[in-house]
Amino acid sequence: MLTTIKTSARDTRSLGTPWKNWSGSQVAHPSLRAMPSSEAELSLLVQQQARVRVVGAGHSFTPLAATDDCMISLDRLSGLVAHDTVSHQAKLWAGTRLFDCGPLLQSVGQALPNMGDIDRQSLGGVISTATHGTGMGLPCIAAGVTELRLVTADGSVLSTSPQRDADVFHAAAVSLGALGVISQVTLQNVAPFRLRERVDVVPLDTVLGDLQRWKHEHRSFELWAFPYSRQAIVKTLDITDEPPQMQKKGGDAADGLLRLCSELTRMWPSLTAPLQKLVGRFVSPTLRIGDSWRIYPSERHVPFNEMEYHVPADVSAEALDEACHVSVNSRTAGFFPIEFRFVAGDSHWLSPFQGGGRASIAVHQYYKQDYRPLFAAVEPILRRYGGRPHWGKLHTATHRDLLHMYPDFGRFLKLRAELDPTAKFLNPYLQKIFGLVHA
Ligand SMILES: Cc1cc2nc3c(=O)[nH]c(=O)nc-3n(C[C@H](O)[C@H](O)[C@H](O)COP(=O)(O)OP(=O)(O)OC[C@H]3O[C@@H](n4cnc5c(N)ncnc54)[C@H](O)[C@@H]3O)c2cc1C
Repeated sequence: MLTTIKTSARDTRSLGTPWKNWSGSQVAHPSLRAMPSSEAELSLLVQQQARVRVVGAGHSFTPLAATDDCMISLDRLSGLVAHDTVSHQAKLWAGTRLFDCGPLLQSVGQALPNMGDIDRQSLGGVISTATHGTGMGLPCIAAGVTELRLVTADGSVLSTSPQRDADVFHAAAVSLGALGVISQVTLQNVAPFRLRERVDVVPLDTVLGDLQRWKHEHRSFELWAFPYSRQAIVKTLDITDEPPQMQKKGGDAADGLLRLCSELTRMWPSLTAPLQKLVGRFVSPTLRIGDSWRIYPSERHVPFNEMEYHVPADVSAEALDEACHVSVNSRTAGFFPIEFRFVAGDSHWLSPFQGGGRASIAVHQYYKQDYRPLFAAVEPILRRYGGRPHWGKLHTATHRDLLHMYPDFGRFLKLRAELDPTAKFLNPYLQKIFGLVHA
């Protein structure tokens, strides 16, 4: 197979070096790394290879993209393909990184309605895992897809939309790279808008007791709970016409402090409580106003591993409170806070938000520390509250669990088998969670 691939499609950037995800917890040794520069080249490549995984920015914590066979990157398939000024729809290559979407869309009078914490990921990656931001009325990014082009196992290109084939569309929109390679996506965007971001430190119990108000009063609401000090950093985002005001985020200093606290608690776990109690002194209230795509993303320079579950919104305050208590009682050292966000519902078969809005609760652990004790303590709580795991974040849900959590999981697997009978797009991890091999 190696000899048939066009030399220009080979990705020679990292010849001989293993592939690693963002946190370094997943490592693979692809026998071939390819970077096609046209959809035709991508189709040929998929047709020729026996096993294929497509990778975006490698920001998933789970081994979704990992493969020792052919790994395809769409880094050369990036940018705007077409746009409609009336409907605010834009067609983009799936390899486009989110940080390029902001300026590209703004140049044609459009903006993504919402974004997550960072903007390093690829469009193909965020769509395939139901990546989300926060806001009771704001669904995951995949919910904004109106049409997509999928290169399937035999190399043919399937163009799918809710009007053309609703089943294939709702299966493919969040499909973990298991149905094929998405080459292009059309997104329903909005007119460019400006956001006012406020960040403050609030007692955790105050905000938990008033969650209903917070979630309805702001377009977006997010909190980071420090379980040992019962404090929370609260961030709200609202649309505004006020002039831009970019107060510094404290980037390098905040990163330095986070790294220092993580190192100190790693070495001396008993410091976790006193250091968390200092959060109110470290973090001062901030206000920033600017273009949405400049305000949404943060920079994350201190690596961590993460587990995130999406629980029904009406039990989210209890679930978060219990997760905080359990993380303290488990006595596992760790400075990172627990993150909490709201996400609106959608209709994609493998979207954790299929069937209604949910609240996302995410637990982080510093990359130099074993994440398993902390995650093992908190995961049963989030599962007991009816949580569904984020596909891109660590979890231990089995095939059986997922069948139970996702009403359309069985339908998805049936369609997958029809579209890819030789399991070209499956790696060992997907085979396991799809119930094709036993753990
Ligand atoms: C620091 C950090 C912050 C994060 N913040 C958030 C957040 O705010 N909200 C949130 O929900 N998640 C968040 N995540 C998780 C992240 O958004 C998801 O894991 C996302 O999938 C990563 O995108 P990627 O481009 O890196 O994809 P990868 O991790 O490279 O791939 C993810 C999956 O998508 C598939 N895929 C990629 N491209 C294509 C394609 N073209 N066609 C078909 N399948 C494809 C891959 O095969 C794989 O299964 C964060 C992760 C990190 C490390």
